[in-house]
Amino acid sequence: MSKPFIKNHMEDLVWDMLPEVLEKFPDACHCDICQYDIAAKALNSLQPKYVAHHKGLVYTRISELAQQFRTDIFTALTGAALLITKNPSH
Ligand SMILES: [Zn+2]
Repeated sequence: MSKPFIKNHMEDLVWDMLPEVLEKFPDACHCDICQYDIAAKALNSLQPKYVAHHKGLVYTRISELAQQFRTDIFTALTGAALLITKNPSH
Protein backbone atom coordinates (compact mmCIF):
# COMPACT_ATOMS: atom_id res chain seq x y z
CA MET A 1 0.00 0.00 0.00
CA SER A 2 1.42 3.37 -0.94
CA LYS A 3 1.87 6.07 1.65
CA PRO A 4 -0.86 8.70 1.92
CA PHE A 5 0.14 12.25 1.03
CA ILE A 6 -1.42 15.69 0.81
CA LYS A 7 -1.40 17.90 -2.21
CA ASN A 8 -2.49 21.47 -2.87
CA HIS A 9 -4.73 21.05 -5.89
CA MET A 10 -5.03 24.78 -6.37
CA GLU A 11 -1.50 24.52 -7.75
CA ASP A 12 -2.54 22.07 -10.49
CA LEU A 13 -5.62 24.12 -11.31
CA VAL A 14 -3.52 27.29 -11.65
CA TRP A 15 -1.09 25.57 -14.05
CA ASP A 16 -4.03 24.13 -16.04
CA MET A 17 -5.55 27.56 -16.58
CA LEU A 18 -2.37 29.55 -17.09
CA PRO A 19 -2.11 28.96 -20.90
CA GLU A 20 -5.70 30.15 -21.34
CA VAL A 21 -4.94 33.37 -19.45
CA LEU A 22 -1.64 33.96 -21.26
CA GLU A 23 -3.52 33.82 -24.59
CA LYS A 24 -5.18 37.05 -23.52
CA PHE A 25 -1.76 38.69 -23.12
CA PRO A 26 -0.15 38.07 -26.52
CA ASP A 27 2.32 40.94 -26.03
CA ALA A 28 3.46 39.77 -22.60
CA CYS A 29 6.63 37.77 -22.04
CA HIS A 30 5.70 34.07 -21.91
CA CYS A 31 9.07 32.75 -20.73
CA ASP A 32 9.36 30.22 -17.87
CA ILE A 33 10.44 32.90 -15.39
CA CYS A 34 7.36 35.02 -16.04
CA GLN A 35 5.03 32.00 -16.03
CA TYR A 36 6.36 30.87 -12.63
CA ASP A 37 6.13 34.45 -11.30
CA ILE A 38 2.50 34.67 -12.45
CA ALA A 39 1.61 31.25 -11.00
CA ALA A 40 3.25 32.06 -7.64
CA LYS A 41 1.55 35.44 -7.39
CA ALA A 42 -1.84 33.96 -8.25
CA LEU A 43 -1.38 31.11 -5.73
CA ASN A 44 -0.52 33.57 -2.96
CA SER A 45 -3.86 35.29 -3.44
CA LEU A 46 -5.87 32.05 -3.61
CA GLN A 47 -6.88 29.77 -0.74
CA PRO A 48 -4.88 26.54 -0.88
CA LYS A 49 -7.01 23.44 -1.42
CA TYR A 50 -5.24 20.53 0.17
CA VAL A 51 -6.60 17.09 -0.52
CA ALA A 52 -5.43 13.97 1.30
CA HIS A 53 -4.61 11.12 -1.07
CA HIS A 54 -4.96 7.60 0.21
CA LYS A 55 -6.31 4.42 -1.27
CA GLY A 56 -8.45 5.55 -4.22
CA LEU A 57 -7.74 8.94 -5.72
CA VAL A 58 -10.32 11.66 -5.29
CA TYR A 59 -10.92 12.71 -8.89
CA THR A 60 -14.52 13.70 -8.23
CA ARG A 61 -13.51 16.14 -5.54
CA ILE A 62 -10.80 17.61 -7.72
CA SER A 63 -13.11 18.24 -10.66
CA GLU A 64 -15.62 19.76 -8.24
CA LEU A 65 -12.86 22.06 -7.00
CA ALA A 66 -12.05 23.04 -10.57
CA GLN A 67 -15.68 23.97 -11.26
CA GLN A 68 -16.08 25.83 -8.01
CA PHE A 69 -12.90 27.90 -8.22
CA ARG A 70 -12.57 28.47 -11.97
CA THR A 71 -13.65 32.09 -11.81
CA ASP A 72 -11.47 32.85 -8.76
CA ILE A 73 -8.43 31.26 -10.39
CA PHE A 74 -9.04 33.09 -13.64
CA THR A 75 -9.34 36.43 -11.81
CA ALA A 76 -6.20 35.76 -9.73
CA LEU A 77 -4.18 34.73 -12.81
CA THR A 78 -5.34 37.72 -14.82
CA GLY A 79 -4.36 40.10 -12.01
CA ALA A 80 -0.99 38.40 -11.61
CA ALA A 81 -0.35 38.44 -15.36
CA LEU A 82 -1.10 42.17 -15.49
CA LEU A 83 1.36 42.89 -12.70
CA ILE A 84 4.15 40.69 -14.04
CA THR A 85 3.65 42.01 -17.57
CA LYS A 86 4.09 45.57 -16.35
CA ASN A 87 6.98 44.69 -14.11
CA PRO A 88 8.79 41.50 -15.19
CA SER A 89 11.47 40.25 -12.80
CA HIS A 90 14.10 39.96 -15.55
ZN1 LIG B 1 9.74 36.59 -19.09
